[in-house]
Order: sequence, then C-alpha cells, then structure tokens
Amino acid sequence: MPIHVLSREVASAIAAGEVIERPSSVVRELIENALDARARRIEVRLVGAGQTLIEVADDGAGIASAELPLAVARYATSKLESTQDLFAVRTLGFRGEALASIGAVSRMEIVSRRAEESSGASLRVEGSEAGRRTRRGAPVGTVVSVRDLFFNTPARRNFLKAETTERRRILELVGRYAIAYPAVGFVVLSDGRTALETTGRGDGREALAAVFDLATARSLIEVVASAESPVSVSGFVSPPDIHRASRRDLTFFVNGRWVLDAALSAAVLRAYHGLLMVGRFPLGFLRVDLDPAEIDVNVHPSKAEVRFRRPDVVVATAQRAVRGTLLAQAPAPEADLPGVWAWASLERVPTLHAAPSWERSPSLPLDADRLPRPSGEVPLLRAVGQVGTTYLVAEGPDGLYLIDQHAAHERILFEKLSDARASATLQTQALLDLEPVQLSRAEAAQLTTLAAAMARIGLEVEPFGGDSVRVRAMPALLADLDPAQAVHTALGDFEEDEAPLEGEVEARLTARVCKRAAIRAGQILSLAEQEGLLRQLEACRSPRTCPHGRPTMIHISVQALERQFGRRG
Ligand code: ADP
Ligand code: MG
Repeated sequence: MPIHVLSREVASAIAAGEVIERPSSVVRELIENALDARARRIEVRLVGAGQTLIEVADDGAGIASAELPLAVARYATSKLESTQDLFAVRTLGFRGEALASIGAVSRMEIVSRRAEESSGASLRVEGSEAGRRTRRGAPVGTVVSVRDLFFNTPARRNFLKAETTERRRILELVGRYAIAYPAVGFVVLSDGRTALETTGRGDGREALAAVFDLATARSLIEVVASAESPVSVSGFVSPPDIHRASRRDLTFFVNGRWVLDAALSAAVLRAYHGLLMVGRFPLGFLRVDLDPAEIDVNVHPSKAEVRFRRPDVVVATAQRAVRGTLLAQAPAPEADLPGVWAWASLERVPTLHAAPSWERSPSLPLDADRLPRPSGEVPLLRAVGQVGTTYLVAEGPDGLYLIDQHAAHERILFEKLSDARASATLQTQALLDLEPVQLSRAEAAQLTTLAAAMARIGLEVEPFGGDSVRVRAMPALLADLDPAQAVHTALGDFEEDEAPLEGEVEARLTARVCKRAAIRAGQILSLAEQEGLLRQLEACRSPRTCPHGRPTMIHISVQALERQFGRRG
C-alpha cells in the first residue's frame, strides 16, 4: 500500500482511542470538566454500566451557546493559551480533546447554559459528525449524555470487561473524586438505583464514609500537611491493623487530579515498614499539592500520570508525612482493663515469677557486654518477670508493659536480619552436615521462583536430585533454626502480589523464617534473658509490632492503675 494520509474519520478514531479506553474514561473526562467549571453538584447516571448511557449533569458555569460547536472540536479549549501555560496547568483539562474524542466513538449530546444567557442550547455529535445547534430551555450548567459507547469501534467494545467490572471501575473513580472534592456533592445512579452519594458539605471523613464503610472511615488516621514544606501532603491513611491484599486502595491526587504513581505508592509502603504484616497493604488517600510549575501533566492523553520535576523531594515528603502520622498516632495499644470486680473475679490470676537463672534458653542470643543502642521508639524498660511463660512484665517510666516474648523476638530477629542484608553485612554459616531435604511438589515449584531471594537472605540451597535439596548455608543470626524447617517455612504458600516491589519478597521470607526461629510462648526465660530481650527490643526501629503486624506489647499507664485501685477518680 502506498503511504497516504488517513481520512479524518480514521484519524479521529485513533486519537479518541488514546483518551477514551472504557466507560470509566468517559466519566473521568466529564467529571473533570464539571470540576473545572466549578460545579457544586455532579450527577452521574448510568445505564448498562455505561455502555448504553452515561450522563453527567453539573451545575457549573456552563458553555456559551455560541461556543458549543467549538467545545466539541478537537484541540479546542478555554483552559490554555500558550505553550508557556502548558508548564503550569491549574485546571484538570487542558488538551481540548475529551469532548471531541467522546463524540468520535459514541452518540453524544450536550445541553448547556450559562447564567447570563436566557436559555440554553444543545448540540448532538454522532461518530464525529456534529449536528446543528438548537435552542433549548435548561438550568444553568451542563448535561452531557453519551449513548452507545464504541458503537462504531466494535474492537474496542469487545475488549470491555463484564458489566460488573466496568461499573466497579466507574464507582471507584467517582468515589475517589468524591473524597478528593468533599465540597462537591456527587451522586451516581446506576440503572435507576443510587450507587453512591455524598453531601458536598466539605467534610472529608463524611465523603470517606460514603465511599468506604463508616467504620473504616472513622478509623483512618488523618495526615495533616506541614506548613513549611513546598510540597503539601495531606489526607487519610489506615492504621496498621486495617489492611488490604493489594495496593489498589492507595490513591493519590496530585494538584486535584487522580494519578497513578509507583514511586509515591512505594514511599507510602516504606512508611509502613515494620508496622504492617508482610504482604498486606495499607489503604490510603493522599493529596499532594505543589506549585503547578513543578509538575508535567502532559505525559499521556488520559492524564493518569504526571512527572515531577523533583521526584525525590515529593517522595521523601510523602514518606515522612505518613511515617510521622503513623508513629504519632499508633502507640502501644492501651490495655482495656475490665472493671474492678470483673478483674478480681478472674479465675486465673496470673502470678509473676522470675525464672530461676539456671533455666537458660539456648536459642536466645544474649550479649550483655555489647548493649544495643535504644532507638527511642519505646521507653527504657526494666524486666520484672514472666507471666505464663509467655509474657514479660516490665516497668517503664509511664507504667507497666506486658510484652509477648515470641512477637518481640520475632521483631528483633527481623530487624537484625533485614539490616544485615541492607548493609551487606549478612553473615552466613556454612553447613557441614548436608542432609537432603525432601520437598513437596508445591514447594519444589515455589523454589524455582524463590531460590534467588532465599539466597539473598542467607538461606542457600542446592538441588539434590528429584524434588530434594541440600541446605548449604543459613543466616548466622538464625543458627539455631533447623535447616530443613527453615526451607519448609520459606517455601510455604505465598499470597501472590502481581508485582512485588524490590525487596518485598526478601522481606516476606525474612519475616517467615524469623517467626519460625523466634523463642516460643511457653519457653522459660531467666531474668537476665528477659533483660537481654528488652534491651534488643528497645533498639528496634519499630518495636511495637511484630513483622506480621501484631502488637508486641500492651501498655498499662500509671493513671490506669490508679483508676483501677480507686486512688484517682
Ligand atoms: P478540555 O477540558 O481539555 O479543555 P474538553 O474537550 O474536555 O477539553 O472540553 C472543551 C471545552 O468545553 C472546555 O475547555 C470547556 O470550556 C468546555 N466545557 C466542557 N465541559 C464543560 C462543562 N461541564 N462545563 C463548562 N464548560 C465545559
Ligand atoms: Mg476536559
């Protein structure tokens, strides 16, 4: 075929394909237009998950009737004038292609009226063919209805997912915008039923409740922007005990626009380091606001990504803001002491006892000469004794601490091993007695993907015919762990995450083997061993939870004790 210029029809279908990929892209463009027009209320009506009808009505500024034909023309916008403006975009739209693109792949009608005009006007576009503008009575604002999406591009239509999936995407999208713009009331009617509604009263938590459930909305922790930083990060994040199986519920709005940004997600995950169960993800909603000249929004036609001029600053600010919020708001859980009578009537009153010093536990590394440095995350604690051979009782300046010896040791081993790996000072111990370890089919399959990561945490194995392996080396820190057990533990079922971040697999493996290697409940510890455990826990960066997110300690304040004993009202 000789080279020829594509017809207008084909060219506009190609261009439209970049902007409008699925029903939710239509909704996104129309909502962003309404927000740019300063709407206070936005109503989305769907029939058949948007493939039959998407209608977005707003009470914004409206389009002058004389400008209606321009609004649907490609590269026609009221939001941008010069190339210069392109580098400091303050509106959500700026490319002037959304309406043209939607009109190219659907039967679209716009009805709009500005406040100063006595009546509105309407215009239809069908597969890029614009009809004639007609006068029409209408309230101030704009209604865009989009029927039969992709009627003329069957390939695109066939790529759509099931209706429930497309509907969920739309609801997720509108929900996110509703949270980002709490002063705007959003409604989604899907096949006549209200699927989402926010009041627009300006209360962020109220919008969160409308999108998630009330309990989740209440428990999210607010991230407050610091005034000094040129990059403002604010919003809501989940406390460590609320988490999800994927990072899909981490949402970022940059200068009012929903964007996907792997670096920002990674920053937030780092902020949860040590607080969250390995393999689980926080839920969060963060607004990043900065000088528009600091970002390039013109990266992709769908505007779902932005480029930061100084990404390191943005990422560091986000991480610091979230980490600071979490540490300030998530202290050791205060024990919820039962009433005095209930307390007294408890059948098994625990007895405190310090274990006799001859009952030394072999697996607890105790190095009293070289005391680790406290991190300051918990106060210095004095060992008092052990309860039920499972919990340590300790005294701090602000009351009593009960410490789960297994969870605490898990945390200590996890940080030591992770730190050793991070600083490339991980010591391994070569094994001399190379007993083969027989793997199950599933374990052998896991090994092919995990062997390299296992070696990076010091657990080196080599094939030994069939489905068996030999363990060549173990991390020196876990020298007491039985090698076969270590391998079986490492190769247990993994909940697959589509694309684990760098180091995530290693972190999960580390958490697993450390859990296995940690001292157990039921193991008697001498007072010296208890002190040793406390010193090492004090040195941890995140001493309050185990790597799997469970608390390592419960704090009973002096005030709570005084209340219980009736010393203070
Ligand atoms: P862009 O938003 O990038 O400018 P669009 O194709 O989405 O491009 O819209 C073209 C123009 O139509 C906008 O610049 C704006 O002036 C006008 N417009 C579109 N939707 C609305 C609306 N809901 N309210 C007011 N004006 C609108
Ligand atoms: Mg637009």
